Amino acid sequence: MFESLSERLGGVFDRLTRAGALSEEDVITALREVRVALLEADVSLPVARDFIKRVQEKATGSAVTKSITPGQMVVKFVHDELTRVLAGDEPPEALKIDNPPATILMVGLQGSGKTTTTAKLAKRLKEKNGKKVLLASLDTQRPAAMEQLAILGVQIGVDSLPIVKGETAVQIAKRAKTQASLGGYDVVFLDTAGRLHIDEVLMDEVQAVRDIAQPRETLLVVDGLTGQDAVNVASEFDGKVGISGVVLTRMDGDGRGGAALSMRAVTGKPIRFVGLGEKMDAIEPFEAERVAGRILGMGDIVALVEKAQETFEAEQAERMAKRFSKGLFNMNDLRMQLEQMLKMGGMQGLMGMLPGMGGMAKKAEEAGFNDKMLRRQIALINSMTKRERANPDLLQASRKKRIAAGAGLEVSELNKLLKQHKQMADMMKKFGKGGGMKQMIRQMM
Ligand code: GDP
Repeated sequence: MFESLSERLGGVFDRLTRAGALSEEDVITALREVRVALLEADVSLPVARDFIKRVQEKATGSAVTKSITPGQMVVKFVHDELTRVLAGDEPPEALKIDNPPATILMVGLQGSGKTTTTAKLAKRLKEKNGKKVLLASLDTQRPAAMEQLAILGVQIGVDSLPIVKGETAVQIAKRAKTQASLGGYDVVFLDTAGRLHIDEVLMDEVQAVRDIAQPRETLLVVDGLTGQDAVNVASEFDGKVGISGVVLTRMDGDGRGGAALSMRAVTGKPIRFVGLGEKMDAIEPFEAERVAGRILGMGDIVALVEKAQETFEAEQAERMAKRFSKGLFNMNDLRMQLEQMLKMGGMQGLMGMLPGMGGMAKKAEEAGFNDKMLRRQIALINSMTKRERANPDLLQASRKKRIAAGAGLEVSELNKLLKQHKQMADMMKKFGKGGGMKQMIRQMM
């Protein structure tokens, strides 16, 4: 249905094969096509315009390395900027659920997938984080909706608040809070009533519930297929109720996800999760990179970007070497190393390549160093904030708990990672004064 961005850019790229620096004219020509692609992916016009302007400023005049074409370079800038805007600063998946019972208020229009998402998140918190969860439906207009939540609760093995006829939404919210405290629940989900359209009565009700419930999180559930409408819904809800994040559903469909970009740009609120189907497991933390790829038209474009990325990585490696020689080594550096290891075929592949390290590969595997571990460690680092990554010394007990929970792992795993980082950082300090790779890797074991 959609012409892929790379197809669009094909012709433009051909004309852009001159090496050297990207001229303003080159960039503008290529970005014109990018703009059309963004609009087709449902990104709103002002957001697309603003986005293009920023990429233009960044790309113009930048050096084009020999191994890539200027067109690829432009795509890389587009991809990176998309990812940057979509991602924001905070790890998206870590819900604030400290100080139990923590209330999570679920809001959104009818049919957006709110009830389904509520149950999916409850299941996740129960299984991944070992939390005791209570579900409560506040949809007094639609008894069927209340029953739907109760049925899902049974299905996923999570308690739901008994249904009492004739209560108002506020009364139910109060009862849910009381029940959560008395019953020793960690988290209570309040699934508010949806309407087909935004209306005053709905907003008043949600506001009243919010005031009573004092939620730690107010998550807006929106249908990712509804494009521009979803953005309007998000800004309405954010203006009237104040949301802490968005869950985009139906991202398993063939919508292009441009709404995600507009929504972030318009509300500034993070997208926390995406719904990927009707099943109770079909939910994943939002991954900016993946949605950026989707907006750009996936497939070949991603391959293009990855190619460009290789050059970028060579430059990064050089920057890193410089940092190391100064004895600097924070969590960003560690993450880059872990990712690099994964790309190079994991621990096994990496050590196989180093002369004299073949025997160590086996030893490493036995000690539990494998790709799964690398991925878990990367997840832990992703769960940290920018500041924490730059300065791991900040990590005290409560932060550690949040980070581990965000990655769905135990604090002990995080402690292991921190210890490893400390050892490596200490190594880096010595690294400048000789040492060498072999010794460093030995130290890591
Ligand atoms: P609510 O009215 O907002 O509570 O919406 P529901 O939770 O009842 O969901 C409406 C329909 O959308 C149901 O049939 C769900 O199974 C379906 N649904 C919800 N989330 C997703 C999703 O991420 N992908 C797909 N394909 N269907 C979904």
